[in-house]
Amino acid sequence: MNINNPTADQDTHFFGDVCKNFDHAAQFTKHDAGLLDQIKSCNSVYRFRFPIRKGNGFEVIDAWRVEHSHHQSPTKGGIRYSEMVNEDEVMALAALMTYKCAIVNVPFGGAKGGIKINPKNYTVGELENITRRYTVELIKKNFIGPSIDVPAPDYGSGEREMSWIADTYATMNPGQLDALGAVTGKPISLHGIAGRREATGRGVAIAIRECVSVAEDMQKLGLTTGLSGKKVIVQGLGNVGYYSAKFLSEFGALIVGLCEFEGAIYNEDGLDVEAVFQHRKATGSILGYAGAKKEFKNTMDGLEQPCDILVPAALENQITIQNIGSIKAKIIAEGANGPTSPEAEAAFYKAGGMIIPDMYANAGGVTVSYFEWLKNLSHVAFGRINRRFEENSNLNLVNMVEGITGVALTPLQRSTIIKGASELELVNSGLEDTMIRSYHEIREIYKNNPKVETLRNAAMVGAINKIAVSYQNLGVWP
Ligand code: NAD
Repeated sequence: MNINNPTADQDTHFFGDVCKNFDHAAQFTKHDAGLLDQIKSCNSVYRFRFPIRKGNGFEVIDAWRVEHSHHQSPTKGGIRYSEMVNEDEVMALAALMTYKCAIVNVPFGGAKGGIKINPKNYTVGELENITRRYTVELIKKNFIGPSIDVPAPDYGSGEREMSWIADTYATMNPGQLDALGAVTGKPISLHGIAGRREATGRGVAIAIRECVSVAEDMQKLGLTTGLSGKKVIVQGLGNVGYYSAKFLSEFGALIVGLCEFEGAIYNEDGLDVEAVFQHRKATGSILGYAGAKKEFKNTMDGLEQPCDILVPAALENQITIQNIGSIKAKIIAEGANGPTSPEAEAAFYKAGGMIIPDMYANAGGVTVSYFEWLKNLSHVAFGRINRRFEENSNLNLVNMVEGITGVALTPLQRSTIIKGASELELVNSGLEDTMIRSYHEIREIYKNNPKVETLRNAAMVGAINKIAVSYQNLGVWP
């Protein structure tokens, strides 16, 4: 692969698509070509292979870690466990992480990791061996550390894998005070943070809620404002998809379709997300759920059913020029990374649709990962030091107001006003603030530049400008 000119390469596809988006958005900026090239290129691509014991023999595992940009340190990005992983994909995902962090003002460079396995083919013990060995390989090359590169979960990995990484890193770096900041997405018991598990899906739901709150944009789409009663189809019932669906229904939307790899279900009156999730857990399939009015063996048919909003939250390249004409939604909100091809996006906008792009829509995960990293470096849970102080101050204020006015509040009113914020409340508030501010930052660029045709271009323009400033301030040395 030609790392410096990926768009010229036939076998690059996903990274090529990300670079095409970059090149397109770069036209609307004023930076010099060399600087743009520095921003776009992947700085470090580490491909490695290592053996594990399997049965009576060995098996060799292919793996990657890509650090796309060092304009901020550390770099940050999840580790994907999938037999579909390849170098092009890891590079694309690392690049998206760079732009994503810039968009939501998280001070990290972008990175991504990949382990080419289907986790279902390995025992828990084997997965632990693979994860620990992968971590050791990263340590050997200085590709992990709280100030170097900080992994997180992605497709096929979760809290369990992050615990193994944290333990391996801490064991190999005895006495390093900030060792647990070398990885995020850890369980709370291992100094993870409240709200991280659901952060990406919550962020997706907030992004959609913000998008549909703008009357001018909804009018153009022929939709009313607000989430109440909006029909939504979600693809993927994993971490991102499940929580996106859960919070969207909590915000008043109607989840009418759910798609998993074994098939899809639909009910125009709404599906009970939790009941579907439990049904799949019990039976191993989304199909056969009693509350569905329609079932599709081919999961892709599920994406084409009537709805207002489609949330692809499984994998990349799900919406292409082949199926975009059949998508009924007016808004596509990209929970997954890279689910829509550039050609499909152009066709969708031409037909009057709107796409909330991945690099913004799914940035809730990295935002809360940033909070977790801060917690790990400060070695104290958010709210622990100030909560009681806040409660006492609020109590004094309530007593004073009651004394002056002679009006006594109800016990419920008193406790609501007095209560100090928990870690979860602080995290959710920081996440909500980030998602809302970032949406309007992107939309401003979109509205103020008639040549910027999509929210993705606008998000990319904003990201390029921020990263360019960082590189310019850093200078070049030696
Ligand atoms: P996950 O492994 O928890 O869930 C993915 C789900 O998609 C699984 O339930 C899987 O069965 C389903 N799936 C796979 N192929 C499918 C298909 N063809 N049709 C329908 N469903 C299919 O993974 P995740 O963490 O939810 O990640 C999903 C996407 O979101 C990925 O693109 C990932 O890069 C992106 N993402 C994840 C996070 C995070 O915090 N986990 C953050 C940002 C972006």
